[in-house]
Amino acid sequence: MTAPRYPTIRLHPGRHKRLLHGHPWVYSNEVQMDAAAKAVPPGSPVRLTDAGGTALGVATFSPHTLIAARLLSTDSDTVIDGAFLAGRLRRAADLRAHLYDRPYYRVVHAEADGLPGLIVDRYGSVVTVQANSVFMDARLPDILAALDETLAPTAVILRNDGSQRALEGLAEETRLAKGAIDGPIRLEENGGVFFADPLGGQKTGWFYDQRDNRAFIASLAAGRRAIDFFSYNGGFAIQCALAGAESVVAVDRSQPALENAARAAEANGVAARFEARRADAFTEMERLAAAGESFGVVVADPPAFVKSKKDLAVGCRAYRKMTKLAARITAPGGILLAASCSHNVDPPTFAEQVARGLTDAGRTGRVLRVAGAGPDHPLHPHLPESAYLKAMVIQVD
Ligand code: SAH
Repeated sequence: MTAPRYPTIRLHPGRHKRLLHGHPWVYSNEVQMDAAAKAVPPGSPVRLTDAGGTALGVATFSPHTLIAARLLSTDSDTVIDGAFLAGRLRRAADLRAHLYDRPYYRVVHAEADGLPGLIVDRYGSVVTVQANSVFMDARLPDILAALDETLAPTAVILRNDGSQRALEGLAEETRLAKGAIDGPIRLEENGGVFFADPLGGQKTGWFYDQRDNRAFIASLAAGRRAIDFFSYNGGFAIQCALAGAESVVAVDRSQPALENAARAAEANGVAARFEARRADAFTEMERLAAAGESFGVVVADPPAFVKSKKDLAVGCRAYRKMTKLAARITAPGGILLAASCSHNVDPPTFAEQVARGLTDAGRTGRVLRVAGAGPDHPLHPHLPESAYLKAMVIQVD
């Protein structure tokens, strides 16, 4: 097949070097943004060249976004069609099938899987798809066809509600693209059964990224009282109960989330040791501390406190305060997990907030584990900053 004539986008002198070293992005100020470049419809495939005209590869291009080009292939003859996307999807799916025994995981994690802007999560025969770029949004028919070929899902949910979509000028929408969904969907993780509701209430699915951190915490929970703040659908809480915790409390302000957690407690046969408590996490931590209560395992895995760079200082204070309050109700010798999914907070900055929070609580301890997301959320080797998840596990004295 002959290569289509994709528009050529030329970089400024010297600006090709990062790409040659393996980085997948070109920023808009690195592009010779002439009238022809500006006229390229957002999300189109283009041929990238250096200033002298030497080919660098094929990329998706959006002239009006900060990251103007995202490399798809270093081979400039690559045709970006359904077969190309299906090949990338198959590679991603093969990796997950190799990593996990059961079909519950993130199938596609964007750049790292060579599919910039695409997130696919799998819940057995149900699949959720998030397209975060104009390019991926336009290719959804190809992606859906490739999913049918690779995973043959019975239902596909388009969860196009990511904050990145607004940056790309895309509308938010959550809808079924295929099949039907009857109530919350069922999933498995670390030997437990859970429920998520990507079409109802909160319109989010399951956070598979914490799988390994949940397993680690659960491995330390036997015989202890555990409390899971920002519990969402109960992942940490119920895995602690399954591992033999004396009792577990799931704290969240969302009733639908707590209902999914309670349903999971039933399904796993741990309802007698499970309590769902609807409360503001910070207020509940203060109340418990005032009441002199303490727990052998305390988990605090909140939503992103720093959604944009301007919130950094305020968000850092919130992580510090969260750690302080959580440490105050951790029993001496107990285990505290503090996590952040804010990609604007780098690991050293988060570690500093956690350390300060511990000191603010008048406590000390030792860090047992510093971890990110599991391997179904791989990283592009040249985008280490995309490691958004940070989980620190501390034994508190
Ligand atoms: N720890 C969860 C993921 C957390 S998602 C897991 O393992 O899957 C964030 C959750 O925090 C949501 O369920 C949301 O309802 C809840 N939340 C946000 N702010 C809160 C607050 N101030 N108090 C209690 N829950 C809160």
